[in-house]
Amino acid sequence: MAERKPIESWLTDMDGVLMHEGVPVPGAEAFIQRLRESARPFLVLTNNSMYTPRDLHARLARMGIEVPLENIWTSALATAQFLDEQRPGGTAYVIGEAGLTTALHDIGYVLTDHAPDYVVLGETRTYSFEALTKAIRLINNGSRFIATNPDETGPSTEGALPATGSVAALITKATGREPYFVGKPNPLMMRAGLNAIGAHSETSAMIGDRMDTDVLAGLEAGMETFLVLTGLTRPEEVDRHPFRPSTVVDSIADLVDRV
Ligand SMILES: [Mg+2]
Repeated sequence: MAERKPIESWLTDMDGVLMHEGVPVPGAEAFIQRLRESARPFLVLTNNSMYTPRDLHARLARMGIEVPLENIWTSALATAQFLDEQRPGGTAYVIGEAGLTTALHDIGYVLTDHAPDYVVLGETRTYSFEALTKAIRLINNGSRFIATNPDETGPSTEGALPATGSVAALITKATGREPYFVGKPNPLMMRAGLNAIGAHSETSAMIGDRMDTDVLAGLEAGMETFLVLTGLTRPEEVDRHPFRPSTVVDSIADLVDRV
C-alpha cells in the first residue's frame, strides 16, 4: 500500500465528534487547543445549514471548545460559495434559517419569490406547507433546485428529526426534479474547505462519525480518514460498507497526540 504523507492539516465534523446531543465529547477541547497551538490549518465542518459561523462559535465556546470563526465551514457557506461561482449576483427563494440566508446575503444574492434563479433548501425546524408549495411551483416554473445537504435525519435527544434530505425528497416527488446537494459527501464541500485554509488533500485528514458522509467525503477528496465511535456509527456497522476509513478510533481523545 502507498505510504501517505504526514498530516499537515485537519478537517473535523462537529456533531458526533466534538459534541454529541448538546454535550462536549471528552478530548474535543484538548484536540482543538492542540490544533490552535500547533498553528496547523484546520476546519470544523458541519452539514447543518441552520446556524451562522458566529452562532456555532458561541455554541462551541459554551462547551469550552474555542474554534475561531474562520475555522468553521458549513454547508450553507459552501452552498453560497458554489452559487457565487455558478451565477454571481443571482436570486434565490430560500427555505432555511439565518445560517443560509446570511450566507446568501453575504455573496450579494437577492432573496425573492419572484421567478428566482434558484430554490435553495436548507435545514429549518419550521417547514411550512405554504413555503413548500411555493418552492414546488417555482421549480415547476424553471427555478433550479439546490439543497444544502442530503442528510435525511438529524439527531436530537428525543430521537430522529426529519432533515433537509427528507424534505428535498418531498419536493422531488412533487416536481420530478432532483436537487443538487452541496454538503457532504459532495467532495465540493471538502475541496472548498481545503482551499479556504490553504490545505492540500494529500496532507490532510478528515475526522467524522458517519461512514456515508464524513468518511466517504474524505475518501473521495483524497484525504486520510478517521472514524470516531462517539456519534452515529456503531462498531459492528463499519464493515457493512463497501469502503472503509483509514483508521477507526474510539473518540477524538485518541487523536490529540496525532496533531
Ligand atoms: Mg456528525
